[in-house]
Amino acid sequence: MAENTPTALVIGGGPAGLMAAERLGAAGLAVTIADAKPSMGRKFLMAGKSGLNLTKDEPFDDLMKAYGEAAPWLRPIIQSFDGLAVQNWARDLGQPLFTGTTGRVFPEAMKASPLLRAWLARLDEYNIVRQARWRWTGWDRDEAVFETPDGVAKMHADVTVLALGGASWARLGSDGAWADILRADGVDLAAFAPANAGIFVKWSAHMRPVFGQPLKGVRFSAGPWASRGEAVLSERGLEGGGIYSVSRGVRDGADLEIDLFPDRTLQELTARLSRPRGKASLSNHLRKTLKLDGVRMALLNELARPLPQSPEALAQCLKALPVKDATLRPMDEAISTAGGVCRSALTDDLMLSARPGVFVAGEMLDWEAPTGGYLITACLATGRWAGEAAAHWARRHVV
Ligand SMILES: Cc1cc2nc3c(=O)[nH]c(=O)nc-3n(C[C@H](O)[C@H](O)[C@H](O)COP(=O)(O)OP(=O)(O)OC[C@H]3O[C@@H](n4cnc5c(N)ncnc54)[C@H](O)[C@@H]3O)c2cc1C
Repeated sequence: MAENTPTALVIGGGPAGLMAAERLGAAGLAVTIADAKPSMGRKFLMAGKSGLNLTKDEPFDDLMKAYGEAAPWLRPIIQSFDGLAVQNWARDLGQPLFTGTTGRVFPEAMKASPLLRAWLARLDEYNIVRQARWRWTGWDRDEAVFETPDGVAKMHADVTVLALGGASWARLGSDGAWADILRADGVDLAAFAPANAGIFVKWSAHMRPVFGQPLKGVRFSAGPWASRGEAVLSERGLEGGGIYSVSRGVRDGADLEIDLFPDRTLQELTARLSRPRGKASLSNHLRKTLKLDGVRMALLNELARPLPQSPEALAQCLKALPVKDATLRPMDEAISTAGGVCRSALTDDLMLSARPGVFVAGEMLDWEAPTGGYLITACLATGRWAGEAAAHWARRHVV
């Protein structure tokens, strides 16, 4: 290494950290990536287990709506590495992609391992060293301190990018323990909260026969959030993309409701239910007039018993079935977390005002988004932004 080569430390080897390292490496810095776990990208690999949704193929303004309150400050960052750029980057790593009917983009392999392998091989072409099992525990003045298998290690770098993830799935590395270190530095932090979480419902024993079955073709809503996606019923409650995207409403205290017939109006349902019933039981009447399947019938009985007899009241139940006492599953099970480093603690370059030369990227920043590829897209974009800004900073400040 030339004597005056600037040095960079990236702490956290998830998608945000690896992208920051890629940009720092490409800019010619000598980079060390340190991660607490025995290998990099464990959550990224887990994301690939259910089909790695890399990004969303949709107009940029639509994409940005997913980031809610954080959209104004994330906008230039994601504009510089948008959904199309994510796709080009993945293809450039030799990963063929496909776009599903809803615009979600996946690698053809569906999983994350081939992409991660190709990405790490690219990083190996730069001046980048990877240190696994290095747990960052804080600072000793301007040195980062790590617990390593060989004892405590301290490292100084000209610039540092923190990409330590959120506070869910701690066993994959992102335990949120970094928050105490940054708080001690006076960095503004928003409290962590589960985002894209499953819903806990205390079902009665009557629901057991439908556990494991998908609930399709319904509409979930909670406060301003609504979704037509799917969910799976289980002993633990409701899980899956359809429910994750409305979990924010439940988190904010809104009631969860299910529309069992989102494509029929209240009037249509009432008219069908008003047909002569004869001697048929109410269940048979519902089956005949509305083709109510077993899963939806079980839910109706579970959540609306005793069922109203009048067609109008019954139709109302079908259109807005209240899921009483729904609460979020524990934060550690959530797909992602809200909260983290506040925008107010950062410069436009994503540098910590409290620690010049230290940049922040990925889920540890205070933004949230629904599933649909928006999470990885913002992690990659902020990682890239922080990595490039850190490289510029090093060039300007290191002689
Ligand atoms: C089951 C599941 C499915 C998902 N599916 C998708 C999907 O399809 N599409 C999508 O967009 N998103 C998905 N996500 C979310 C996505 O995986 C995360 O948002 C993303 O991985 C966050 O990237 P990151 O780099 O910010 O943090 P992480 O990927 O969490 O990486 C942070 C890294 O920092 C390391 N670290 C933490 N603390 C320390 C420390 N003190 N010292 C050293 N290292 C440390 C960790 O070991 C970890 O490797 C899914 C998540 C889960 C759990």
